[in-house]
Amino acid sequence: RAQDLARRLIGMDGRSYPSYKQLHGTHELGDLAVAIDHVQSDPYAPPSRVCVLVDAEDAALPQDLLETADDRIAVGDFLTRRFAAQLRAAGADRDIRIDEPGQQVLARSSVLLAPDRVEVRFEVALPAAGRRIKGRAAARILTELLPEVARAALFHGEFDAPTRDALRAHVVLLRDQEHLRASLRERGLIAFVGEGAILPRRSGDSDLPLETRLGAVPFAVPESLRAEFALPSGRTVTGMGIPEGVTVIVGGGYHGKSTLLRAVERGVYPHIAGDGREWVLTRPDAVSIRAEDGRAVTGVDISPFITNLPTGTDTRAFSTTNASGSTSQAANLVEAVEAGASALLIDEDTSATNFMIRDERMRRLIPANREPITPFVDRIRPLYEERGVSTVLVAGGSGAFFDVADHVIALDEYVPRDVTAQARALAADDAGAAAAGGPVFAAAVSRVPARGGLGRGEEQGPDAAGRGAQHRGGRGPAGRGAGGSGRGKGPKPARARGLGQIQYGTETIELGAVVQLVDPSQTEAIARALDVLSRELDGETSLAEALDALERRFDAEGLDWLSPHRGHPGRLARPRRHELLAAVGRYRRLKLAD
Ligand code: ADP
Ligand code: MG
Repeated sequence: RAQDLARRLIGMDGRSYPSYKQLHGTHELGDLAVAIDHVQSDPYAPPSRVCVLVDAEDAALPQDLLETADDRIAVGDFLTRRFAAQLRAAGADRDIRIDEPGQQVLARSSVLLAPDRVEVRFEVALPAAGRRIKGRAAARILTELLPEVARAALFHGEFDAPTRDALRAHVVLLRDQEHLRASLRERGLIAFVGEGAILPRRSGDSDLPLETRLGAVPFAVPESLRAEFALPSGRTVTGMGIPEGVTVIVGGGYHGKSTLLRAVERGVYPHIAGDGREWVLTRPDAVSIRAEDGRAVTGVDISPFITNLPTGTDTRAFSTTNASGSTSQAANLVEAVEAGASALLIDEDTSATNFMIRDERMRRLIPANREPITPFVDRIRPLYEERGVSTVLVAGGSGAFFDVADHVIALDEYVPRDVTAQARALAADDAGAAAAGGPVFAAAVSRVPARGGLGRGEEQGPDAAGRGAQHRGGRGPAGRGAGGSGRGKGPKPARARGLGQIQYGTETIELGAVVQLVDPSQTEAIARALDVLSRELDGETSLAEALDALERRFDAEGLDWLSPHRGHPGRLARPRRHELLAAVGRYRRLKLAD
């Protein structure tokens, strides 16, 4: 059978490039099948979308490693990395590319583990000489290299002993990590930083660990904050628990404050063994908040922080196309809480000073009724006490937060110390003016977009709502349409541009300041989700409810349904609800229901 496809490809040698389209569909190659779901229109277009399908019985993955959704994420991640490694080993990584994960383990569309089959999705640059088909080269890629790589990467029977152990260890690590994460709340913790963790990265543009021989100082644990977890594997880990409430991280410049906070920020995702942050685990709903001047804001209640603007604007439903540093930080914070954040992570380096604090002298010079901003230092306790939202804050430049802190951690040459008692003593000395009054945060409400409020200002095609992927139900060719895109005449789909931008209609949504977005495939999934939301928002559903529905669907069905294509859904990785809402909130044409 393998010879059939090879013979066809060789027969196409020298023909014009679009003849490759005849290859649409599934080709049986003995113990696996190759499905060509989309053929690029020319050699310079984005590469063709191709899948390998293997029967579950042939892959023979150990059933005890596939018990839960997290298990399947871990196995899918392992197989994706292994497929990528095998491509490199075979020298095929220029012709065939898979969405190789970074340091995080995310649910992604690159490997689908269905009960009956394993399906791997990747892209193939179909070879050309000028605009003519190179049939022999294509035959070698699709019928020799690809099956060889797929067998080595996916057939458990072909794994050597160290690889089998590595697969098991990958699953066991994720089970332990997610168990620890899930226990944080009952232990009253926001985050956990394991003893010996390596937090610094190799460089500003690398997510790889700084090596110890290059000076990385492993994380040490202050005794007063020591926490210990017994994990499902039988392993016990100890580390520093960051408690609920208000925690302030202080220390001299360059002593590692931001590095610690960044690790906690990334700890919402699990990291692979050897990353150094495997045991840095944060509640899944902790959100990093920063100033982001220039962002658009639509109908956000920033009145706990900003009132009486000189323009007379109502800050209970604040909108702007160009927010200032402080208003953008207030909006980011309120949106994080709208999406359900239980903890905020804030670094002085990326904050607007006037949003964070106001000192005594300034309070005397500018009377409160002339200053629209109530600084965060005055709101950090109400936020916790009224709404249960904790804060972890880096503040090396001001002691203003000592009065409101439950815990103060000092970093000294990267070594943390609990200095809560000393900081308290200093705070009591100058007995700060306590703010009195009733509650400042309104009950949790989520904005309700208008019907079509996420529209692109283009006409929606009549069948836009009917489009959706029809996914194959098995390895055979039957379930797989001949590559049709299934797309109606709806508006052009939203598209990610790298990690930090989404092209949505004529608008570009800037996500560069959304720092907990870590993978371009998450951005792509958010782009797809915007298309879904734009069809489903009915003028009555709040954003929080819409996010709940999306998350339920991710839990139940994975990610493939986000794609308008049949078969290969493109490169998708699961985003958090916070980053989804961040994209909606930054869309400049967002319209709310009245
Ligand atoms: P701060 O925010 O306190 O000014 P940073 O977190 O930016 O300090 O860290 C300053 C530098 O020290 C960075 O280059 C960072 O990579 C490095 N660094 C941070 N933590 C460690 C550590 N544990 N071991 C070695 N270097 C570190
Ligand atoms: Mg810093």
